[in-house]
Amino acid sequence: PGGVVGGGVAALWVEGGRLRGVRTVDGRALPAKAVVVAGGTFLSGVVWYGRRSRPAGRQGEPPARFLSQSLRAVGHTLRRFKTGTPPRIRADSVDFGCLEVVPPEVPPGSFTGNPGPHAAKLPTWQTRTTERTHRLIRENLHLSPLYAGDIEGIGPRYCPSIEDKVVRFADKESHLLFVEPDGLSTSEVYLQGFSSSLPPELQEALVRSLPGFERAVIQRYAYAVEYDSLDPTELTRGLQSRLLPGLFAAGQVNGTSGYEEAAAQGVLAGLNAARFALGLPEVHLPRESGYLGVLVDDLVGRGTDEPYRMMTSRVELRLLCRADNADERLIPLAVAWGLRPREDLNRVEAKYRRVAEELRRLEALRVEGVSGLQWLRRPENTYRALAERFPPPVPLAPEEAEQVEIRAKYAGYMERQERLRQRMRDLAAHPLPEGLDYPRVPGLSREAVEKLARLRPRTLAEAARAPGVRDSDLTALLVHLRRGG
Ligand SMILES: Cc1cc2nc3c(=O)[nH]c(=O)nc-3n(C[C@H](O)[C@H](O)[C@H](O)COP(=O)(O)OP(=O)(O)OC[C@H]3O[C@@H](n4cnc5c(N)ncnc54)[C@H](O)[C@@H]3O)c2cc1C
Repeated sequence: PGGVVGGGVAALWVEGGRLRGVRTVDGRALPAKAVVVAGGTFLSGVVWYGRRSRPAGRQGEPPARFLSQSLRAVGHTLRRFKTGTPPRIRADSVDFGCLEVVPPEVPPGSFTGNPGPHAAKLPTWQTRTTERTHRLIRENLHLSPLYAGDIEGIGPRYCPSIEDKVVRFADKESHLLFVEPDGLSTSEVYLQGFSSSLPPELQEALVRSLPGFERAVIQRYAYAVEYDSLDPTELTRGLQSRLLPGLFAAGQVNGTSGYEEAAAQGVLAGLNAARFALGLPEVHLPRESGYLGVLVDDLVGRGTDEPYRMMTSRVELRLLCRADNADERLIPLAVAWGLRPREDLNRVEAKYRRVAEELRRLEALRVEGVSGLQWLRRPENTYRALAERFPPPVPLAPEEAEQVEIRAKYAGYMERQERLRQRMRDLAAHPLPEGLDYPRVPGLSREAVEKLARLRPRTLAEAARAPGVRDSDLTALLVHLRRGG
């Protein structure tokens, strides 16, 4: 028990329908009460460079060949997805002098008030595709496995390859690209927005068609990767398999794509796996608690038929779920679940008490004929100027002052979001019977019947989020429920 064991997992170890642990490719059986599958793009992974393909989970790494079989044997449904990566370029071969600089965020943003030592310190740069880039792509589309029909997997709509962008947005003469350092101490840059599955020979010419890259040397070529992913509707909101207790899954394997999407799920799946092993009940993040709550609710409640990326537009309460108030939203949960010490909660509560006190003081203050809060709402005014003229009894820390300013300036928008939150809660308070016969609900649109019968939402709030369900459908459902339907 304890410690890290290195090795490839060949299969889940299941006996009599119960999870016992995992079996490794070198024949070991590792017992475990809970298992988290976080295999990324490795499950039956195939990488593509042009029309040439080979089994791999990532460039130069073997795929997980057998794990898919094991998950199917448990009853899970697997789908074929694909994603891609841009080429990595030797930094000393790029002419940065002719690129536009994008400076790092100062001060660096943070979810906890403590940005840590690795916060962004380096600039990024911008370049653009040219007429020559687009012509080369159009002339060579037949060399792309996507356009030749070799790849079956479904790719992420919101981060298409460069060949996809040139074809889909044919009216655009140029696409913006970000040139990002790959790390603090690496000699490579990453060409964000230029992922491709075109052959390496062509990638040289494509990269050199970009301003600043005329003499660029590619260190690692772009490629596409196809892989198996689980159907997340077969998971609980704690990211546990509904088919095999003790089996959890997180990351790309659940149908998402992206670092943050994967890392956030890892926290939830890891927490619940540990709780399972300790005999504690699973915990869930409410949708309104933040982005991870939305991500899990979307994945598990609706599923996804393409790699899912987290975008602000998916979060109904995005003005209430901000990076600057992550501590207020999430620290109480983290403390309740034993992830953070009690002192963190004391600190957060003290911070927001001081913020509330200061907001009350400003409400009572008279400045130029209006209350301090109204004065602060004017775009040209700042909390700093106000606090200089009318200092609080104890000066506020910068992160407290920031909260006062945000809460004063955006009060109107936040009130609107609070009303939306209330509506979401009201709808969530109406459970929908499990066996509800949607075709027999009077007044429900045909589209709503189809979607709801498939998704089987648990509450009116979940029904409201189903694509194609309108307010009139919700009213029809509500009337039906009130009649005892
Ligand atoms: C080439 C490429 C470029 C990308 N670029 C970006 C980007 O710029 N920005 C962004 O946000 N996202 C990007 N993504 C997506 C992002 O990398 C992934 O979504 C994220 O890393 C997924 O994290 P994960 O932990 O689920 O899987 P991974 O990071 O893929 O990790 C999976 C791990 O599981 C291990 N593993 C697999 N099978 C087994 C097994 N059977 N036994 C033991 N270990 C196993 C692997 O060795 C690997 O370490 C990119 C993805 C790819 C493929």
